[in-house]
Amino acid sequence: MLNTVKGLTFDDVLLVPGYNGIKSRQNVTTSVSVGRYSFSIPLISSNMDTVTGTQMANAISELGGMGILHRFCSIEDNVTMFKGVHLPDKVGISIGLGRSGLERAEALTKAGASIICVDVAHGHSKEVNRTVRSLRETYHDNLLIIAGNVATYAGADYLAAAGADIIKVGIGAGSVCTTRIKTGFGVPQLSALQDCRKVDRPLISDGGIRFPADAVKALAAGADFVMLGGMLSGTDETPGEIVPIKKANGKTLKVKRFRGMASREAQEDFMGSMSEWKTAEGISVEVPCRGPVKNILLDMMGGIRSGMTYCGAATIKDLQRKAQFMEITPAGKAEGTPHVLDRLHVGEDR
Ligand code: 5GP
Repeated sequence: MLNTVKGLTFDDVLLVPGYNGIKSRQNVTTSVSVGRYSFSIPLISSNMDTVTGTQMANAISELGGMGILHRFCSIEDNVTMFKGVHLPDKVGISIGLGRSGLERAEALTKAGASIICVDVAHGHSKEVNRTVRSLRETYHDNLLIIAGNVATYAGADYLAAAGADIIKVGIGAGSVCTTRIKTGFGVPQLSALQDCRKVDRPLISDGGIRFPADAVKALAAGADFVMLGGMLSGTDETPGEIVPIKKANGKTLKVKRFRGMASREAQEDFMGSMSEWKTAEGISVEVPCRGPVKNILLDMMGGIRSGMTYCGAATIKDLQRKAQFMEITPAGKAEGTPHVLDRLHVGEDR
């Protein structure tokens, strides 16, 4: 007999409205503090090579969030990227494991970085523990250490015990991720957050955010921050070339590349080739260019502020305390997405 538990994600639930005593959604506070670091918006740009370079890090940190620079380049290039950031206390850099990760951390901390993200696909592992411990021993409390990714309380607790200040949660929810269909592993994101929130550390919900509502639900379920990859892809501030492609109707569409860091393409670019014993756990796509990232971040924040007032939450902690989730059916989900055109279409057929 299979012994299973149920896992829920964003589309499985809605938040139930509650009494609101807040005059305007302008009056809610969306800030998050961790130690001496403070962010006025709980948004983080993903450390993917088609999302966060210097420009994205500057754009999101200047709006009050955090940018995490990707690590898919030489240490020297990473240092150059970091030297271009305007708000060093709001920009982190990601590192891999072991000696090469620690060397990257050393070079970047020398350049003034104090937020380091130890980031691998499966963070509940001995090597991540070793790297986090080593950073803590070397830099003591002078470093804000983010570690992940995990999707269970056991994983989050393990990284907290190793010395992580913030735990990054999310296995297999990403928009260009194929881990779940390649390996069968993962935890639906809301259930992952609800499990991980039992650990006494701030959480980053990483992966699967497609609408502002997903961010509200992630925060309500226990995340202190949400990390965005696909939502920010194709914006002016992402690294990468703009490529014009001619469409069948003669119009030109401008696109940019967006790819999973475990895609074949990314692995071939950074390691020369993908080993035969591996399978890609991500895909690579072209996305339409979408203009300045600020528009997307402001829309996201508009949804978060509004969402907070639907249950009278003045702060994100308040949102977490007051949130009441309701599990919904596919009909409930359909009802909540624009459907006027479906109805008109049926009308025309008659
Ligand atoms: P998104 O916001 O696009 O839904 O998710 C972004 C997150 O997907 C990243 O921050 C990272 O955790 C995850 N991710 C990025 N590339 C890959 C990949 O190739 N494979 C997997 N499994 N996850 C990825």
